[in-house]
Amino acid sequence: MTRKYVDCRESPSVSNCTVAISADTDDELLEAVVQHAVAVHGHQDTPELRRQISAGFKQGTPALDVA
Ligand SMILES: [Zn+2]
Repeated sequence: MTRKYVDCRESPSVSNCTVAISADTDDELLEAVVQHAVAVHGHQDTPELRRQISAGFKQGTPALDVA
């Protein structure tokens, strides 16, 4: 199974958010990201939002910044 993630740093429409969320399944990832989008970004939980989030899934794990 391929791990997937969403990284707010890679979304040009999101400013000042550095959260990355990853999970092993699409359903887990979608639920976690929807909750984050609603709580932090003030989005409405709509089918359109979920479609946009699903379209932004990346394969692998979030890139780590090398200090
Ligand atoms: Zn965010």
